[in-house]
Amino acid sequence: MRSVEEHQRVVAGLITARPAATVGLADAEGLVLAEDVVAEVSLPVFDNSAMDGYAVRADEIASASADRPVKLPVAEDIPAGRTDIPTLEPGSAHRIMTGAPIPAGATAVVPVEATDGGTDVVTINDASAEGRHIRRAGEDVAKGSTVLRTGQQVSPAVVGLAAALGRHELTVIPRLRVLVISTGSELVSPGSPLRPGQIYESNSPMLAAAVRDAGATVVATPAVSDEVAQFAAVLDRYAGDSDLIITSGGVSAGAYEVVKDAFGRAGDQGVDFVKVAMQPGMPQGSGRVAGTPIVTLPGNPVSVLVSFEVFVRPALRRAMGLPDAERPRRAAVLTEKLTSPPGKRQFRRGVLDADAGTVSGYGPPGSHHLRYLASANCLLDIAEDVTEIPPGSQVEVWDLG
Ligand code: AMP
Ligand code: MG
Repeated sequence: MRSVEEHQRVVAGLITARPAATVGLADAEGLVLAEDVVAEVSLPVFDNSAMDGYAVRADEIASASADRPVKLPVAEDIPAGRTDIPTLEPGSAHRIMTGAPIPAGATAVVPVEATDGGTDVVTINDASAEGRHIRRAGEDVAKGSTVLRTGQQVSPAVVGLAAALGRHELTVIPRLRVLVISTGSELVSPGSPLRPGQIYESNSPMLAAAVRDAGATVVATPAVSDEVAQFAAVLDRYAGDSDLIITSGGVSAGAYEVVKDAFGRAGDQGVDFVKVAMQPGMPQGSGRVAGTPIVTLPGNPVSVLVSFEVFVRPALRRAMGLPDAERPRRAAVLTEKLTSPPGKRQFRRGVLDADAGTVSGYGPPGSHHLRYLASANCLLDIAEDVTEIPPGSQVEVWDLG
């Protein structure tokens, strides 16, 4: 049997980044920059007012107080967006709004609160020192400076900065495109009635959500019966547009194992079917279909999601350069006794109480118990050689957040 670490290496080796691409800001969010961003303008772009008020010459109102206000005629009105900027002549004020350009000659802004708000003549009740309430050009970003670096993840604030600098596109490592195929003649799409012997198809919606959660994108989520021709047709249709194919089901030891059958049981089409020493998720496979990487997961829903967590998610995130490729590992004290099969690394669903530093197993180990996985917040990672863990033991968990 192959170890978990070995299969992680094999899967990681298959999944590689797409070439950098220049995309619109909305599509860049969450991805990693593949360029250094150099400011082509300064921020602020020009000297502008930090307040709604009046642009003045500071020395002309230096003596202003509530008892001895200074009155000045209001010569101009400068709302934000005014593009012709009149000079402030001595002995006058310009009414000015936040973000509007400071007129030549003005050396300070008096906030409207320190005035009577006059539009023909303004009464100023307080002094404003030179430079007060003026945001200077370049005090945030100097034109020509490098403000963002290759490898930085595009956050909402990064999008904001890029836009403020006039960029409508960024060069990033694109999302990997993942095709998710479910197999099984018993499967029916949720929303349709079930006939005897049928079940609802849950792996592809679940895997699609996990793919997106990992930062990748979903090409399509076709579900096929256990007929090789149908499976092959879906591959023909979508594989060329995909960077990774993930299948679920059809790889165990029974008959009608469509994924195994499609690639030949001897693995002669570049797909290796292996047993990995883990529970759940023992039957695994990986390889390439017409050049496109493929990872074949088992069918049981818990095995599917655990396998995705262990093998696919970290490889996808690492290839896209995204942070936190691995889930955070934490040590916690087990509240109960757990048993684990010999020779297999077990990933038990658990509930971690991070404040108390404790963890409890959640639900039975069987790989069809999706209900417990849905309300678990961690995986207990139990080593291959461990068969029994007494309560109070320190265990390692993967924090699913
Ligand atoms: P298999 O590996 O194809 O034999 O599937 C193992 C178990 O998982 C069987 O009980 C299947 O019915 C179930 N299963 C396989 N694929 C899906 C799916 N897409 N949605 C829900 N259950 C599935
Ligand atoms: Mg099946």
